[in-house]
Amino acid sequence: MTDHKEKLEEIRRRVQSGGKVLIGIGSEWKQNRNDSDETEITIRPEVEKAYQSLYEWIKDADYFLVTTVTDGMIWRGPFDSGRIVAPCGNIGWRQCSKACTKDIWEEGEVESGLCPHCKSPLVPNTIRCGCYIEEGYLPQWQEYTKWLARTLNQPLTVIELGEGFGVPTVIRWPFEKTVFLNQKAYMYRVHSRFFQISDELSGRAEGIAADSVEFMLQA
Ligand SMILES: [Zn+2]
Repeated sequence: MTDHKEKLEEIRRRVQSGGKVLIGIGSEWKQNRNDSDETEITIRPEVEKAYQSLYEWIKDADYFLVTTVTDGMIWRGPFDSGRIVAPCGNIGWRQCSKACTKDIWEEGEVESGLCPHCKSPLVPNTIRCGCYIEEGYLPQWQEYTKWLARTLNQPLTVIELGEGFGVPTVIRWPFEKTVFLNQKAYMYRVHSRFFQISDELSGRAEGIAADSVEFMLQA
């Protein structure tokens, strides 16, 4: 394992220097490494530890977390839930499989597991369900866009952790655009394979070739 201590210390100093901090959490942080909606999740203890390390970095900062991971673990961590948005959904929430209603239920809230309106089975409220109801995350998305608007021309550290090209429209491409538009922004992209930075961001972003969970565990 490569020693990233110096780079980690540099990022920590930048994060704690008073500017805003935007974090993206991608597929390297899934509890289940596959894309299934199995609600029985295989706990990877190292991921929980990595979330904790990340929290120690950002807890006093003005941060926002965007995640494409749907296993819901991020909500159980120490982060301020008002500063998290999960646009791809959460396997812990339920929606009607026919999307007859925009209602969202907590796991176990409807004992029968059937939609109270049309009696279709309830399914996890994630992008994989085929008729994804976006109402689950939209309130937090609005909070995120307001927060993002306030970062304009402000010092901003962007840390993208483990996001590939599964859903690049949520984190990967918008983060690049944010950094491109804000001259005071700087981005770290950490990924075991997809750490590359486009030329137009040169000098304003850097890629770090590392598994982002292992990387944070060294922090
Ligand atoms: Zn229904």
